[in-house]
Amino acid sequence: PPQSTPVSAWLGMQPTQATARLHASHKGSFGDVLVLGGQGIGVSGAGMTGAAVLAGRAALHGGAGRVFVGLLEDDAPHSTPWDPACPELMFRRPSLLLESDTLRNACVVCGCGGGTAVAALLPRVLSTARTLVLDADALNAIAADASLQTLLSLRRDRGRSTVLTPHPLEAARLLGSDTRQVMADRLKAAQTLADRFGACCVLKGSGSVVAAPGEVPIINASGNAALATAGTGDVLAGMIGSALAPLKLVDEQMQDRVASAVYQHGWLADHWHDTGHAGELSASRLAARVRPLAG
Ligand code: AMP
Ligand code: MG
Repeated sequence: PPQSTPVSAWLGMQPTQATARLHASHKGSFGDVLVLGGQGIGVSGAGMTGAAVLAGRAALHGGAGRVFVGLLEDDAPHSTPWDPACPELMFRRPSLLLESDTLRNACVVCGCGGGTAVAALLPRVLSTARTLVLDADALNAIAADASLQTLLSLRRDRGRSTVLTPHPLEAARLLGSDTRQVMADRLKAAQTLADRFGACCVLKGSGSVVAAPGEVPIINASGNAALATAGTGDVLAGMIGSALAPLKLVDEQMQDRVASAVYQHGWLADHWHDTGHAGELSASRLAARVRPLAG
C-alpha cells in the first residue's frame, strides 16, 4: 500500500513508520477537514458541486476524523444535499461553517469548484482558518484581488499554515505572468509563490513541485497522464487536507506531509492496474483508493 512505500527515503526526508491507530484514539484525534466549494448550477449555471464532493471523499479516505462540506450556492435549498456513495460526509451551509469554531480548529480546503461564489468567503477564511489549502477558484480570486493577497501574506506571521495547489495557469495568474513563463522554470515559479505568500506551494503537473519558504523544493516523481482528467486536482486538495488535519501549527512538517500526499496521489495512478483495480482511472475511483499517510 502507498503509505508503506519508502517515500521518505526516496524524497530524502526522515523515514516515517507506518503506525496503527492508537487503541484509545477517537475521531477528534485525526482532525476535521472542512471543504468549501462546489458552486451549484442554480444561480450561476456553474454545476461544479462534484469538485467539493470529490475533495471531501478524498479527505475522508485519507483519514480525517470528520469531514464537512459547505456547498456554495446550493442548487435546491429545500432539499438536503448528501453523497449516497459517501454518507459519512456532513453537508453544512457555508454560512454556518464560517461562523462556527470549526473554522478555527479544522483544516479548511477552499476553492474546489468554487466558481464566482468563493471570493466572498475568502476574507473570513483567510483571516480565521487554522490550516488552509487553497485550490482552483480560490487561487483565481486571490490573483484578482490585492486585498486578498495581503490577507494571505499575513497568515504566516499570525502562526497559520497555508498550502497553495495551483496548476500552471493558476500559478501564472498569481504571479502575474503566463503559463509559458511558469513552465520555463517551474521550480522558480513554485518557490516564488511559496516565498511571496509564506505558504507551501504545490505546482501541479507532470513532476509536481512542492516548495516551501526557505526550504529546498521537492520534485515529485510519481504520477502519469492518466491523472490528466477532471477532478483529480480536487482529490489531491482533499488528500492534503486530511494529511494536515491532525497537525497543529508545525511548519517544519508541512512540506513533508504535503509531498507525501502528492506522492501517494501519483503512486495510486502508477499502480492503478497492478493493484487489481478494474476500469480506468477516474477522480471518484481515485478518491476511493486514498489511504491515510503513515506517521
Ligand atoms: P488539476 O489541474 O487541478 O485538474 O489537477 C490535476 C492533477 O493531476 C494534479 O495533481 C496534477 O499533478 C496531476 N496530473 C495531471 N496531468 C499529469 C501528468 N501528465 N503527469 C502526472 N500528473 C499529472
Ligand atoms: Mg484543479
